[in-house]
Amino acid sequence: MSKKILVTGGAGFLGSHLCERLIALGHDVLCVDNYFTGRKENIAHLLSNPRFEIMRHDVTFPLYVEVDEIYNLACPASPIHYQYDPVQTTKTSVHGAINMLGLAKRVKARILQASTSEVYGDPEIHPQTEDYWGKVNPIGIRSCYDEGKRCAETLFFDYWRQHHLEIKVVRIFNTYGPRMHPNDGRVVSNFIVQALRGEDITIYGDGQQTRSFCYVDDLVEAMIRMMASRADFTGPVNIGNPSEFSMLQLAELVIRLTGSQSKLIFKPLPQDDPKQRRPDITLAQQELNWQPTVSLEEGLTKTMAYFANLQPTR
Ligand code: NAD
Ligand code: UDP
Ligand code: UDP
Repeated sequence: MSKKILVTGGAGFLGSHLCERLIALGHDVLCVDNYFTGRKENIAHLLSNPRFEIMRHDVTFPLYVEVDEIYNLACPASPIHYQYDPVQTTKTSVHGAINMLGLAKRVKARILQASTSEVYGDPEIHPQTEDYWGKVNPIGIRSCYDEGKRCAETLFFDYWRQHHLEIKVVRIFNTYGPRMHPNDGRVVSNFIVQALRGEDITIYGDGQQTRSFCYVDDLVEAMIRMMASRADFTGPVNIGNPSEFSMLQLAELVIRLTGSQSKLIFKPLPQDDPKQRRPDITLAQQELNWQPTVSLEEGLTKTMAYFANLQPTR
Protein backbone atom coordinates (compact mmCIF):
# COMPACT_ATOMS: atom_id res chain seq x y z
CA MET A 1 0.00 0.00 0.00
CA SER A 2 1.28 3.44 -0.91
CA LYS A 3 2.19 5.59 2.11
CA LYS A 4 3.15 9.21 2.75
CA ILE A 5 6.66 9.03 4.14
CA LEU A 6 8.78 11.80 5.67
CA VAL A 7 12.55 11.45 5.36
CA THR A 8 14.49 14.05 7.37
CA GLY A 9 18.02 14.56 6.09
CA GLY A 10 16.73 13.27 2.76
CA ALA A 11 19.18 15.30 0.66
CA GLY A 12 22.15 13.69 2.38
CA PHE A 13 24.15 10.63 1.42
CA LEU A 14 21.98 7.91 3.03
CA GLY A 15 18.75 9.92 2.87
CA SER A 16 18.90 10.39 -0.89
CA HIS A 17 19.30 6.65 -1.47
CA LEU A 18 16.44 5.97 0.94
CA CYS A 19 14.13 8.49 -0.82
CA GLU A 20 14.95 6.85 -4.15
CA ARG A 21 14.11 3.35 -2.86
CA LEU A 22 10.88 4.45 -1.19
CA ILE A 23 9.70 6.13 -4.40
CA ALA A 24 10.59 3.01 -6.39
CA LEU A 25 8.41 1.04 -3.94
CA GLY A 26 5.47 3.30 -4.87
CA HIS A 27 5.38 5.62 -1.84
CA ASP A 28 4.99 9.41 -1.69
CA VAL A 29 8.12 10.91 -0.15
CA LEU A 30 8.49 14.25 1.60
CA CYS A 31 12.18 15.07 1.94
CA VAL A 32 13.01 17.63 4.64
CA ASP A 33 16.53 19.04 4.76
CA ASN A 34 18.34 22.26 5.66
CA TYR A 35 21.21 21.44 3.24
CA PHE A 36 23.85 21.71 5.95
CA THR A 37 25.69 18.69 4.55
CA GLY A 38 23.10 17.53 2.04
CA ARG A 39 23.19 18.61 -1.58
CA LYS A 40 20.51 19.33 -4.14
CA GLU A 41 22.53 17.28 -6.65
CA ASN A 42 21.82 14.17 -4.55
CA ILE A 43 18.09 14.46 -5.20
CA ALA A 44 18.02 16.39 -8.49
CA HIS A 45 17.05 13.24 -10.41
CA LEU A 46 13.97 12.80 -8.18
CA LEU A 47 12.57 16.32 -8.54
CA SER A 48 10.54 15.60 -11.66
CA ASN A 49 8.87 12.62 -10.00
CA PRO A 50 5.34 13.52 -8.84
CA ARG A 51 5.76 11.22 -5.82
CA PHE A 52 8.67 13.33 -4.54
CA GLU A 53 8.54 16.62 -2.66
CA ILE A 54 11.32 18.60 -1.00
CA MET A 55 11.04 21.11 1.83
CA ARG A 56 13.90 23.26 3.14
CA HIS A 57 13.50 23.09 6.89
CA ASP A 58 15.65 22.73 10.02
CA VAL A 59 14.34 19.94 12.27
CA THR A 60 15.30 21.87 15.41
CA PHE A 61 12.13 23.87 14.64
CA PRO A 62 8.64 22.34 14.84
CA LEU A 63 7.21 20.80 11.69
CA TYR A 64 3.52 20.31 11.01
CA VAL A 65 2.84 17.89 8.16
CA GLU A 66 0.61 14.84 7.72
CA VAL A 67 2.50 11.58 7.11
CA ASP A 68 2.20 7.84 7.80
CA GLU A 69 5.86 7.08 8.53
CA ILE A 70 8.96 9.06 9.50
CA TYR A 71 12.61 8.18 8.92
CA ASN A 72 14.67 10.58 11.05
CA LEU A 73 18.11 10.91 9.45
CA ALA A 74 18.76 14.63 9.83
CA CYS A 75 22.18 15.08 11.45
CA PRO A 76 25.65 15.64 10.02
CA ALA A 77 27.50 12.32 10.19
CA SER A 78 31.15 12.94 9.45
CA PRO A 79 33.48 14.18 12.21
CA ILE A 80 34.55 17.27 10.18
CA HIS A 81 30.96 18.35 9.70
CA TYR A 82 29.53 17.50 13.10
CA GLN A 83 32.46 19.20 14.85
CA TYR A 84 32.10 22.37 12.75
CA ASP A 85 29.17 23.62 14.86
CA PRO A 86 28.97 21.15 17.76
CA VAL A 87 26.16 22.96 19.59
CA GLN A 88 23.98 22.77 16.49
CA THR A 89 24.87 19.05 16.16
CA THR A 90 23.49 18.28 19.62
CA LYS A 91 20.46 20.48 18.97
CA THR A 92 19.78 18.67 15.72
CA SER A 93 19.85 15.27 17.42
CA VAL A 94 17.95 16.28 20.57
CA HIS A 95 15.53 19.04 19.52
CA GLY A 96 15.16 17.31 16.15
CA ALA A 97 14.17 14.05 17.86
CA ILE A 98 11.70 15.86 20.16
CA ASN A 99 10.03 17.60 17.22
CA MET A 100 9.86 14.48 15.05
CA LEU A 101 8.55 12.41 17.99
CA GLY A 102 5.96 15.11 18.73
CA LEU A 103 4.93 14.98 15.09
CA ALA A 104 4.78 11.16 15.14
CA LYS A 105 2.65 11.30 18.28
CA ARG A 106 0.18 13.78 16.77
CA VAL A 107 -0.27 11.97 13.44
CA LYS A 108 0.21 8.44 14.90
CA ALA A 109 3.09 7.67 12.55
CA ARG A 110 5.65 4.94 12.94
CA ILE A 111 9.06 6.57 13.40
CA LEU A 112 12.57 5.26 12.76
CA GLN A 113 15.70 6.81 14.24
CA ALA A 114 19.04 6.64 12.40
CA SER A 115 21.23 6.04 15.43
CA THR A 116 24.86 5.08 15.23
CA SER A 117 27.57 2.69 16.35
CA GLU A 118 29.06 5.81 18.00
CA VAL A 119 26.68 5.19 20.92
CA TYR A 120 29.17 2.43 21.84
CA GLY A 121 32.03 4.98 21.88
CA ASP A 122 35.46 3.35 22.09
CA PRO A 123 34.04 -0.10 22.85
CA GLU A 124 35.45 -2.53 25.43
CA ILE A 125 33.61 -5.52 24.01
CA HIS A 126 34.08 -6.82 20.52
CA PRO A 127 32.09 -7.28 18.35
CA GLN A 128 29.44 -4.93 19.73
CA THR A 129 26.05 -6.32 20.70
CA GLU A 130 22.99 -4.15 21.28
CA ASP A 131 22.96 -4.82 25.04
CA TYR A 132 26.40 -3.18 25.47
CA TRP A 133 25.98 0.29 27.02
CA GLY A 134 29.13 1.76 25.52
CA LYS A 135 32.17 3.71 26.63
CA VAL A 136 31.60 7.30 25.64
CA ASN A 137 33.48 10.43 26.68
CA PRO A 138 30.75 12.96 27.61
CA ILE A 139 33.00 16.04 27.21
CA GLY A 140 35.23 15.31 24.22
CA ILE A 141 35.14 16.57 20.64
CA ARG A 142 33.03 13.63 19.46
CA SER A 143 30.54 14.02 22.33
CA CYS A 144 28.21 16.43 20.53
CA TYR A 145 27.46 13.63 18.10
CA ASP A 146 27.73 10.58 20.37
CA GLU A 147 25.82 12.02 23.32
CA GLY A 148 23.32 13.75 21.03
CA LYS A 149 22.54 10.41 19.41
CA ARG A 150 22.40 8.66 22.81
CA CYS A 151 19.94 11.27 24.11
CA ALA A 152 17.86 10.86 20.94
CA GLU A 153 17.65 7.12 21.69
CA THR A 154 16.55 7.96 25.25
CA LEU A 155 13.81 10.21 23.88
CA PHE A 156 12.64 7.52 21.46
CA PHE A 157 12.34 4.96 24.26
CA ASP A 158 10.62 7.43 26.60
CA TYR A 159 8.05 8.34 23.91
CA TRP A 160 7.55 4.59 23.44
CA ARG A 161 7.10 3.93 27.18
CA GLN A 162 5.14 7.10 27.97
CA HIS A 163 3.15 7.73 24.79
CA HIS A 164 3.17 4.23 23.22
CA LEU A 165 4.64 5.38 19.92
CA GLU A 166 5.71 2.76 17.42
CA ILE A 167 9.44 3.40 17.41
CA LYS A 168 12.25 1.74 15.47
CA VAL A 169 15.88 2.40 16.36
CA VAL A 170 18.72 1.27 14.09
CA ARG A 171 22.37 1.65 15.06
CA ILE A 172 24.19 2.22 11.80
CA PHE A 173 27.85 1.22 11.46
CA ASN A 174 30.16 2.92 8.92
CA THR A 175 28.35 3.03 5.59
CA TYR A 176 29.77 4.12 2.25
CA GLY A 177 28.78 4.44 -1.37
CA PRO A 178 28.03 6.91 -4.17
CA ARG A 179 26.97 10.42 -3.03
CA MET A 180 29.25 10.49 -0.02
CA HIS A 181 30.51 14.04 0.20
CA PRO A 182 33.98 14.16 -1.43
CA ASN A 183 35.28 16.55 1.25
CA ASP A 184 33.65 15.12 4.33
CA GLY A 185 36.88 13.61 5.62
CA ARG A 186 35.50 10.11 6.03
CA VAL A 187 38.02 7.42 5.43
CA VAL A 188 36.44 5.77 2.38
CA SER A 189 35.86 9.04 0.50
CA ASN A 190 39.30 10.40 1.50
CA PHE A 191 41.18 7.30 0.36
CA ILE A 192 39.31 7.01 -2.95
CA VAL A 193 39.66 10.70 -3.82
CA GLN A 194 43.36 10.65 -2.86
CA ALA A 195 44.01 7.48 -4.88
CA LEU A 196 42.20 8.82 -7.95
CA ARG A 197 44.22 12.05 -7.82
CA GLY A 198 47.50 10.21 -7.18
CA GLU A 199 47.89 12.09 -3.89
CA ASP A 200 49.32 10.60 -0.69
CA ILE A 201 46.87 8.43 1.25
CA THR A 202 46.48 9.78 4.78
CA ILE A 203 46.56 7.10 7.47
CA TYR A 204 45.69 8.47 10.90
CA GLY A 205 47.70 6.83 13.70
CA ASP A 206 49.37 3.52 12.82
CA GLY A 207 46.44 2.39 10.66
CA GLN A 208 45.82 -0.69 12.84
CA GLN A 209 42.43 0.63 14.03
CA THR A 210 39.53 -1.26 12.47
CA ARG A 211 36.13 -0.44 11.01
CA SER A 212 33.43 -2.52 9.30
CA PHE A 213 32.08 -1.00 6.11
CA CYS A 214 28.54 -1.50 4.83
CA TYR A 215 27.51 -0.64 1.27
CA VAL A 216 24.64 1.87 1.11
CA ASP A 217 22.20 -0.44 -0.74
CA ASP A 218 22.47 -3.05 2.02
CA LEU A 219 21.86 -0.37 4.64
CA VAL A 220 18.75 1.02 2.91
CA GLU A 221 17.31 -2.49 2.60
CA ALA A 222 17.77 -3.00 6.35
CA MET A 223 16.10 0.31 7.21
CA ILE A 224 13.07 -0.52 5.09
CA ARG A 225 12.81 -3.98 6.67
CA MET A 226 13.11 -2.42 10.12
CA MET A 227 10.28 0.02 9.43
CA ALA A 228 8.10 -2.92 8.30
CA SER A 229 9.02 -5.15 11.27
CA ARG A 230 6.46 -6.37 13.82
CA ALA A 231 4.94 -3.57 15.92
CA ASP A 232 6.55 -4.65 19.19
CA PHE A 233 10.07 -4.78 17.78
CA THR A 234 11.66 -1.45 18.71
CA GLY A 235 15.33 -2.30 18.40
CA PRO A 236 17.90 -0.95 18.94
CA VAL A 237 19.29 -3.15 16.22
CA ASN A 238 22.79 -3.05 14.75
CA ILE A 239 22.97 -2.57 11.00
CA GLY A 240 26.33 -2.96 9.37
CA ASN A 241 28.69 -5.30 7.66
CA PRO A 242 30.53 -7.58 10.08
CA SER A 243 33.63 -7.90 7.86
CA GLU A 244 36.31 -5.96 9.71
CA PHE A 245 39.30 -4.23 8.12
CA SER A 246 42.19 -2.16 9.43
CA MET A 247 42.70 1.24 7.80
CA LEU A 248 45.96 -0.08 6.34
CA GLN A 249 44.07 -2.96 4.69
CA LEU A 250 41.49 -0.52 3.35
CA ALA A 251 44.23 1.72 1.91
CA GLU A 252 45.90 -1.23 0.21
CA LEU A 253 42.59 -2.39 -1.28
CA VAL A 254 41.77 1.10 -2.61
CA ILE A 255 45.26 1.38 -4.16
CA ARG A 256 44.90 -2.04 -5.81
CA LEU A 257 41.40 -1.39 -7.17
CA THR A 258 42.24 2.06 -8.54
CA GLY A 259 45.67 1.00 -9.81
CA SER A 260 46.96 4.19 -8.18
CA GLN A 261 50.62 5.12 -7.61
CA SER A 262 49.69 6.87 -4.33
CA LYS A 263 51.93 6.34 -1.30
CA LEU A 264 50.81 6.04 2.33
CA ILE A 265 51.60 8.85 4.76
CA PHE A 266 50.94 8.75 8.50
CA LYS A 267 49.19 11.58 10.37
CA PRO A 268 48.24 11.97 14.05
CA LEU A 269 45.26 9.98 15.30
CA PRO A 270 42.30 12.28 16.11
CA GLN A 271 41.20 12.48 19.76
CA ASP A 272 38.88 9.69 20.99
CA ASP A 273 39.20 7.77 17.72
CA PRO A 274 37.74 4.30 18.42
CA LYS A 275 40.31 1.50 18.07
CA GLN A 276 37.97 -1.14 16.75
CA ARG A 277 34.41 -1.46 15.57
CA ARG A 278 32.44 -4.42 14.28
CA PRO A 279 28.71 -5.07 14.60
CA ASP A 280 27.26 -8.28 15.93
CA ILE A 281 24.29 -8.56 13.53
CA THR A 282 22.65 -11.66 15.02
CA LEU A 283 19.58 -9.64 16.03
CA ALA A 284 19.14 -8.15 12.53
CA GLN A 285 19.48 -11.62 11.02
CA GLN A 286 16.83 -13.01 13.37
CA GLU A 287 14.32 -10.16 13.35
CA LEU A 288 14.74 -8.69 9.87
CA ASN A 289 16.07 -11.74 8.04
CA TRP A 290 18.76 -9.37 6.83
CA GLN A 291 22.46 -9.50 6.22
CA PRO A 292 24.71 -7.56 3.87
CA THR A 293 25.21 -8.95 0.39
CA VAL A 294 27.75 -6.51 -1.11
CA SER A 295 31.43 -7.22 -0.47
CA LEU A 296 33.86 -4.38 0.27
CA GLU A 297 35.61 -4.89 -3.05
CA GLU A 298 32.34 -4.74 -5.01
CA GLY A 299 31.05 -1.71 -3.10
CA LEU A 300 34.34 0.17 -3.38
CA THR A 301 34.37 -0.43 -7.13
CA LYS A 302 30.91 1.18 -7.46
CA THR A 303 31.91 4.05 -5.19
CA MET A 304 35.10 4.68 -7.16
CA ALA A 305 33.11 4.90 -10.38
CA TYR A 306 31.00 7.63 -8.76
CA PHE A 307 34.01 9.65 -7.59
CA ALA A 308 35.82 9.16 -10.91
CA ASN A 309 32.82 10.69 -12.73
CA LEU A 310 32.70 13.59 -10.26
CA GLN A 311 36.29 14.61 -10.96
CA PRO A 312 35.85 16.70 -14.14
CA THR A 313 33.06 18.84 -12.68
CA ARG A 314 34.73 19.57 -9.35
P1 NAD B 1 24.82 13.35 5.63
O1 NAD B 1 25.55 14.42 6.33
O2 NAD B 1 25.12 13.10 4.18
O3 NAD B 1 23.26 13.54 5.77
C1 NAD B 1 22.65 14.22 6.83
C2 NAD B 1 21.57 15.11 6.24
O4 NAD B 1 20.90 15.79 7.30
C3 NAD B 1 22.13 16.19 5.31
O5 NAD B 1 21.38 16.23 4.12
C4 NAD B 1 21.98 17.47 6.12
O6 NAD B 1 21.86 18.63 5.33
C5 NAD B 1 20.75 17.17 6.95
N1 NAD B 1 20.66 17.95 8.19
C6 NAD B 1 21.63 18.17 9.10
N2 NAD B 1 21.15 18.91 10.10
C7 NAD B 1 19.85 19.19 9.81
C8 NAD B 1 18.82 19.93 10.45
N3 NAD B 1 19.03 20.54 11.62
N4 NAD B 1 17.60 19.99 9.86
C9 NAD B 1 17.37 19.37 8.67
N5 NAD B 1 18.31 18.66 8.02
C10 NAD B 1 19.53 18.56 8.59
O7 NAD B 1 25.08 12.00 6.46
P2 NAD B 1 24.63 10.51 6.19
O8 NAD B 1 25.86 9.68 6.17
O9 NAD B 1 23.67 10.43 5.08
O10 NAD B 1 23.89 10.18 7.56
C11 NAD B 1 22.47 10.16 7.67
C12 NAD B 1 22.10 9.72 9.08
O11 NAD B 1 22.62 8.41 9.34
C13 NAD B 1 22.64 10.64 10.16
O12 NAD B 1 21.66 10.77 11.17
C14 NAD B 1 23.83 9.89 10.70
O13 NAD B 1 24.08 10.20 12.04
C15 NAD B 1 23.40 8.44 10.52
N6 NAD B 1 24.56 7.55 10.40
C16 NAD B 1 25.33 7.51 9.27
C17 NAD B 1 26.43 6.68 9.22
C18 NAD B 1 27.30 6.56 8.01
O14 NAD B 1 28.29 5.81 8.04
N7 NAD B 1 27.01 7.20 6.90
C19 NAD B 1 26.76 5.89 10.33
C20 NAD B 1 25.98 5.98 11.47
C21 NAD B 1 24.87 6.80 11.50
N1 UDP C 1 5.73 19.06 17.20
C1 UDP C 1 5.97 19.21 15.86
N2 UDP C 1 4.99 18.82 14.98
C2 UDP C 1 3.83 18.27 15.38
C3 UDP C 1 3.62 18.10 16.77
C4 UDP C 1 4.59 18.51 17.66
O1 UDP C 1 7.01 19.72 15.43
O2 UDP C 1 3.03 17.92 14.52
C5 UDP C 1 6.77 19.49 18.15
C6 UDP C 1 6.26 20.54 19.10
O3 UDP C 1 6.89 21.75 18.78
C7 UDP C 1 6.70 20.07 20.46
C8 UDP C 1 7.45 18.78 20.23
O4 UDP C 1 7.15 18.37 18.91
O5 UDP C 1 7.61 20.97 21.03
C9 UDP C 1 7.07 17.69 21.19
O6 UDP C 1 5.68 17.46 21.06
P1 UDP C 1 4.85 16.80 22.25
O7 UDP C 1 3.42 16.78 21.81
O8 UDP C 1 5.46 15.51 22.61
O9 UDP C 1 5.12 17.75 23.47
P2 UDP C 1 4.54 19.16 23.89
O10 UDP C 1 3.85 19.76 22.69
O11 UDP C 1 3.62 18.84 24.98
O12 UDP C 1 5.75 19.92 24.30
N1 UDP D 1 40.97 7.83 8.90
C1 UDP D 1 42.22 7.73 8.30
N2 UDP D 1 42.49 8.56 7.26
C2 UDP D 1 41.60 9.46 6.77
C3 UDP D 1 40.32 9.55 7.37
C4 UDP D 1 40.05 8.72 8.44
O1 UDP D 1 43.07 6.90 8.69
O2 UDP D 1 41.93 10.17 5.81
C5 UDP D 1 40.64 6.91 10.01
C6 UDP D 1 40.03 7.56 11.23
O3 UDP D 1 41.05 8.01 12.12
C7 UDP D 1 39.24 6.40 11.82
C8 UDP D 1 38.79 5.62 10.59
O4 UDP D 1 39.65 6.03 9.53
O5 UDP D 1 40.06 5.58 12.61
C9 UDP D 1 37.34 5.87 10.20
O6 UDP D 1 37.14 7.27 10.14
P1 UDP D 1 35.78 7.94 9.66
O7 UDP D 1 35.92 9.40 9.92
O8 UDP D 1 35.49 7.50 8.28
O9 UDP D 1 34.65 7.30 10.58
P2 UDP D 1 34.48 7.05 12.15
O10 UDP D 1 35.74 7.37 12.90
O11 UDP D 1 33.36 7.94 12.55
O12 UDP D 1 34.17 5.60 12.21
